Amino acid sequence: MPNLFIRGLPATAAASFLLLLTACADAPAQPLASTSGLPSTTSAPAPLGQPAEEQLSFEQWRDLLRSDAIAAGISPTLFDRAFAGVVPNPDVVKADSSQPEFSRPVWEYLKGAVSPSRVARGRILLTQNRAMLNQIEQRYGVDAETLVAIWGLESNFGSNIGSHNVVRSLATLAYEGRRQAFWRGQLLAVLQILQHGDIAPESLVGSWAGAMGQTQFMPTTYNEHAVDFDGDGKRDVWTSTADALASAAHYLQSSSWQLRQPWGYEVQLPQGFDYALADPEVRRSVAQWRELGIHPVGQPLSTPRDDASATLLLPAGHRGPAFLLFSNFRSILRYNNSTSYALAIGLLSDALRGGNTVQGSWPEGDRQLGRSERIELQERLNARGFDSGHADGIIGANTRKAIRAFQLHLGWPADGYPDAKLLEQLRQPH
Ligand code: CA
Repeated sequence: MPNLFIRGLPATAAASFLLLLTACADAPAQPLASTSGLPSTTSAPAPLGQPAEEQLSFEQWRDLLRSDAIAAGISPTLFDRAFAGVVPNPDVVKADSSQPEFSRPVWEYLKGAVSPSRVARGRILLTQNRAMLNQIEQRYGVDAETLVAIWGLESNFGSNIGSHNVVRSLATLAYEGRRQAFWRGQLLAVLQILQHGDIAPESLVGSWAGAMGQTQFMPTTYNEHAVDFDGDGKRDVWTSTADALASAAHYLQSSSWQLRQPWGYEVQLPQGFDYALADPEVRRSVAQWRELGIHPVGQPLSTPRDDASATLLLPAGHRGPAFLLFSNFRSILRYNNSTSYALAIGLLSDALRGGNTVQGSWPEGDRQLGRSERIELQERLNARGFDSGHADGIIGANTRKAIRAFQLHLGWPADGYPDAKLLEQLRQPH
């Protein structure tokens, strides 16, 4: 789903939300609109499963929200209809607070995301929807294959759009989840969508976290980017494939999508390559990468300009395949801020064009570090003076830098990749 969602989003300050609630209780209703959009603070989230304001029952909280929503222009009748019978959903709180110990390795994720059956189904749908997809490309400058790849990954081509009551999910998250101000903004956006008449409250379904329709738009993203492409007067991303795919195209267009430019392609690295260059923060032109001895594996489906800026990605470290990535890859990341996701969209779109699959081999025998092991890795790096920042189990720029420094210290290839061998080395006495 588009990137307003969880990954990469700064945590909202519970404290500022408390202040806001207090202000709402004592003062004239504060327009909810002021809390919509991205939270700007990064302090610790509220404790999980704990209502921010202990003395407020859900009903009291809802009544407060109701007056805020009315002040922001939502009709009382619409609010009451949308909230009819709505109580917090414990499953949503549980899903929001779960931090899985293990995530699938990138190669397993890609196997599922770009499966032969998904490619086959995507090709049939490309043919069936060709005229509509061409019209979307003409209007928004985004190609059919990329849109069909997004459609395939977000909702399995519209067959899995989620069955949660979106108002209930968002009300639960805004009442007692993490990042309450963010969810409150999403909840107001959903009320605006209902008031606009795009869909009836009873039909408003989505994922547990409120992502909606065939391209899994969050409500604020929907309000900014959803379009009525089939011309029936409603922006219907649930049942109209034309509306859903045109909305995704509109989103990518606003994320600087460049038609006929590659998202990226697989490359071969020369012997003795300096792996420190494989980092999202290191950008070089295509010509500069070529001078460094980096060449495409096979014939790319489209050729970038020589001055196009690219980064080098080793999704599984130096023993796995390598990819040069261009600005369209960054546009996909704005849709969903996950490198594995963006890689899957790129590879699926290539497969839909009849391109090759990944040629390099993945280190499939490798054991992937779990979350607690990644935290241990960071703590041990910090203890040895290789500063990886706060040990949170997330491998960001600081951790990659610390890993590289430690790898260089050992005389190992400095790819910044956290594998089990590295952790074992850190566990050795020194
Ligand atoms: Ca429509």
